[in-house]
Amino acid sequence: MLRNGKQKKVIVYCLLVMVIALGGCTLSSPFQQSEKSKEEQKQQEEKNIKENKEEELLTEEDKEKKKEDEIQQDKKIIEIDYERVKPNELGHIMVVMYHGIMDNPPYHRTYEDFWKDLKYMYDKGYRPISITDYVNQNITVAPGYTPIVLTFDDGLPSTFSLIKENGSLKVNPNCAVGIMEKFYEEYPDFGKAATFYINGHDPFEGAGTIQERFAYLLERGYDISNHTYNHADLATLNEQQIQEELGKVDRMIKEMIPHYIMSTFSYPFGKRPKEEFRKWIASGSYEGHEYAYDIAFREGPSGPFIPPIHVKFEPYNVPRVRGSEGAEGDLWWYFNYYEKNPQYRYVSDGNPHRIAVPKGKENNIQQEMLQAKEVYVY
Ligand SMILES: [Zn+2]
Repeated sequence: MLRNGKQKKVIVYCLLVMVIALGGCTLSSPFQQSEKSKEEQKQQEEKNIKENKEEELLTEEDKEKKKEDEIQQDKKIIEIDYERVKPNELGHIMVVMYHGIMDNPPYHRTYEDFWKDLKYMYDKGYRPISITDYVNQNITVAPGYTPIVLTFDDGLPSTFSLIKENGSLKVNPNCAVGIMEKFYEEYPDFGKAATFYINGHDPFEGAGTIQERFAYLLERGYDISNHTYNHADLATLNEQQIQEELGKVDRMIKEMIPHYIMSTFSYPFGKRPKEEFRKWIASGSYEGHEYAYDIAFREGPSGPFIPPIHVKFEPYNVPRVRGSEGAEGDLWWYFNYYEKNPQYRYVSDGNPHRIAVPKGKENNIQQEMLQAKEVYVY
């Protein structure tokens, strides 16, 4: 459904009180939130965990109804001043590629530097989103903010590991997950999301079983996905070998977490298969186990970070930016680039059911990706 900005009076869904609340806390100072709203965020997070538990007990029919209610609710509360927020929902969404937390640049990041990355994102209005929301362009970050995707390759213990303390498992405070958890405690309105692309050999290592490690991540809102069984150079493999490399990890994860949906893959070394074998990334099977992926990430070349709904988006050739500092095209290079060129950033309107774009950009929307979303031109 295409709507013109001049018709926006027609779509006044809003409850006036909610608009004032939104305007007061978000729009007047887009990149800062009060202590009170941080507290509210935290309460919301606790509520979400509780609801997730309740969700497991619902029937399919109940779930459908709940989803529909939520959509209606979202439509009611989100109405913004488009001229002021200037959403750009065809703008760039960076996908950051990290490896471990250690002093070995540029592929690894130290504790301090990783914290600095997160703090910069927080201060400059970036908010992490889940990989599923990225794939579906289901962007729920508040109006005026820019989504960002955090990914970690190779399942390294410095990325995530559990330790045993007084008989119970807890996260190693010095691994990336430990750091993100601490950051979230201090800045709950930053949110929390990251995806870990793993290989097949004892992913993450450390304490706990593999299943306990996966459970720990998923319960806290993180995702895991496929980076081949042997960290394979796919450019050198044939179709059977490619399917074995993908299928084995896919099966391993799904055996431990039944019904878990993985829709993204990351190429080891950033290298794609030979052209004639590329279709085996999208789907294939190994020993009767079938897999399918909607998106595959490379290591680069960096940018442009157009979002999945853009007509030029290539789902099996998606660039990521290396999470490092000091080289052209790395994360800090792009941070500076977007400071100088904010017009390229994705700016959310806060409404996942609407794709809002400045006039003249609407032709860059890939219509088949829209599904039930409406386009809003202003
Ligand atoms: Zn790798």
